[in-house]
Amino acid sequence: MLKIKNLHAEIEEKSILKGLNIEVNAGEVHAIMGPNGAGKSTLANIIAGKEEYEVTDGTIELNGEDISELAPEERAHNGVFLSFQYPVEIPGVSVTNFIKTAINETRKAKGLEDMPAKDMLKKIREKSELLEIDRKFLSRSLNEGFSGGEKKRNEIFQMAMLEPKLAILDETDSGLDIDALRIVANGVNKLKSKDNAVIVITHYQRLLDYIVPDYVHVLHDGKIVKTGDASLALELEKKGYDWIKQELV
Ligand code: ADP
Ligand code: MG
Ligand code: MG
Repeated sequence: MLKIKNLHAEIEEKSILKGLNIEVNAGEVHAIMGPNGAGKSTLANIIAGKEEYEVTDGTIELNGEDISELAPEERAHNGVFLSFQYPVEIPGVSVTNFIKTAINETRKAKGLEDMPAKDMLKKIREKSELLEIDRKFLSRSLNEGFSGGEKKRNEIFQMAMLEPKLAILDETDSGLDIDALRIVANGVNKLKSKDNAVIVITHYQRLLDYIVPDYVHVLHDGKIVKTGDASLALELEKKGYDWIKQELV
């Protein structure tokens, strides 16, 4: 599904990614961990197509197609979802109306008509029940006065509604309580299917108690320097990152 080869990228002429390789297949959950400033968010933003980063070398393929030249909206229409893509507060636009618009814009980009209102309502009902989101929440203004947990809930709801092929969750999980963690994990576990893939970027092992990854990667100084299974996350939690840095010298 996603194949990144030898990715080099910079921001403001500072080199951040330095030859990063990763391959994610449909049906898989990958966790990316690594010290602060390693380039995790940079990677997520580059996959999503944020324009402030300059890709200086390497390729990014989604389902066999090079997406490096596509705009963020086009990537979204191709099924790439990055959490925190829409952190804006929009007074007067409800959670529901926002997601309706997003879905219909994606359909329009594919030459499809708007989703019939009846189907949309059904889908909203299904997904909100699945994620235990109540009606009152759906009619609130987008992100206005949302708590950290409510922002997460909204994000995961968006993800569930959009049913992306590749979901990337760039966690700022430090501020989240256990309920918010469960919401995120629940959403991811329910989205998981043989047709899509999830990349979870996290600083902490604890999210991975709820979302069991197939692969755990360590990103250090702009490269993936180690890959393992879920047990690697536990090892990192115990031992930190220094031993990996030492293995590298
Ligand atoms: P991580 O998510 O792993 O903590 P980031 O990808 O956020 O790391 O950052 C990697 C490096 O790139 C850091 O040194 C950071 O300061 C720098 N960086 C990221 N975004 C910007 C930006 N918009 N402007 C300047 N430097 C940036
Ligand atoms: Mg950081
Ligand atoms: Mg980050």
